[in-house]
Amino acid sequence: MKVKMILPALTEAESPFWRPIKYSLFPPLGLATLAAYLSPDDEIDLQDQHVEQLNINDSPLLVIIQVYITNAYRAYQLADHYRARGSYVILGGLHVTSLPFEAALHADTIFIGPGEDTFPQFLKDFREGRPQKVYNSTIRTLEKIPPIRRDLIKRHLYLVPNSIVVTRGCPHHCTFCYKDAFFEGGRTFYTQEVDDALAEIDRLPGRHLYFLDDHLLGNTRFATSLFDGMRGMNRVFQGAATVDSILRGDLIEKAAEAGLRSLFVGFETFSPENLKQSNKKQNLLKDYTKAVNRLHSLGIMINGSFVFGLDNDDKDVFKRTVDWGVQNAITTSTYHVLTPYPGTQLFKEMESEGRILTRNWDLYDTRNVVYETKNLTAKELTDGYWWAYKEFYTWNNIFKASMKHESHTHKLKHFLYSGGWKKFEAIWNFLIKTKNLNNTLPMLEGVLTKVRNNKKDTYSTAETESLLQI
Ligand code: SF4
Repeated sequence: MKVKMILPALTEAESPFWRPIKYSLFPPLGLATLAAYLSPDDEIDLQDQHVEQLNINDSPLLVIIQVYITNAYRAYQLADHYRARGSYVILGGLHVTSLPFEAALHADTIFIGPGEDTFPQFLKDFREGRPQKVYNSTIRTLEKIPPIRRDLIKRHLYLVPNSIVVTRGCPHHCTFCYKDAFFEGGRTFYTQEVDDALAEIDRLPGRHLYFLDDHLLGNTRFATSLFDGMRGMNRVFQGAATVDSILRGDLIEKAAEAGLRSLFVGFETFSPENLKQSNKKQNLLKDYTKAVNRLHSLGIMINGSFVFGLDNDDKDVFKRTVDWGVQNAITTSTYHVLTPYPGTQLFKEMESEGRILTRNWDLYDTRNVVYETKNLTAKELTDGYWWAYKEFYTWNNIFKASMKHESHTHKLKHFLYSGGWKKFEAIWNFLIKTKNLNNTLPMLEGVLTKVRNNKKDTYSTAETESLLQI
């Protein structure tokens, strides 16, 4: 059977004002995971509109589209297009789970929640000619899932083709997070078998990995075994974790020994009131600076995530946040305008208070203000958001933050990583256009080599040379 799998581009990804590199990082792992349940005889065409022109002049028997909030309208157009051509169209993903009635208008079948249990059932039903209208995930397990169809991924089009997910969900329940809505009706956090995760890692070429798990350190027993198994594999990797997991026990040391070199950390806000509003208990009364220092002592770079617009934020929040980031040598910062995604607790609260201003999902991109703010006007919030990005990434601040590290190598790595990420847009665009993005991977691996945090670097000459060549 001919099967088309599509990840439609997020609205902002196709705008001339946005950064193409941001949307050329990771391949569509979710679709490649589902593809593993199809038969080897099926003819699968997997297309990611972020990195390629869609071919929509075909007429496959089955079309599978992954829907996020800011690609929803585009996904629906594609679904309507293929249904008009006689294809059977199924829709799944975060947005479909949040708003199934909306999505169902454009699909023959919709999927609610993760698809590991429901997609194989759908395929069986479809082949027998009796597919259902809705599949609702209830059994949550990653045991015995077939290997991801990585052969369908066009590796050369991505900066980070070796992305991997070894858990699903997260043990926490922040009110602005999509996660609870997506996993409602079953387990909200579960892991792969460690041996399966290690086998998947082993299959990936090169050294670099990017774990896309919401919280890589979320299950201590699993993460400990994973990192033990990874020692000696000569990998360098990036991932995400919470402040409390960095401060607790010695898991972060184990991660560093296994090759962790950069971590996405959800600091989100410094205000205890805001943390309470967001049910972000795991950050409450935690010493952010201590967490940062611990990561730096292990040579781990930090991508800090910060949210603006929670009810306790005032006009100074932008400067406070940027200054803290520079002062604490945060390598890269990701700022967001608070966004109440449909299906979240935050959306329900704001809706009951009459604070939701628009249901144009294209605007739910964490750059626009879609709700009634409290202490800031919408303009102050968006102006402050853009100011924070601009200010944090001035050469002056990149230099200042780099110089806060103790070792010369860490200073250099910080400078190259932060500057490289934000200051060379034209080069990134050229690499994307010429389909050479993946050739920069050795440079990334070079920047992610191990740092010993001595004032006097104990680097081998070869290691230092490889860094300086970047
Ligand atoms: S810690 Fe992160 S992934 Fe987990 S619920 Fe909160 S925002 Fe979501």
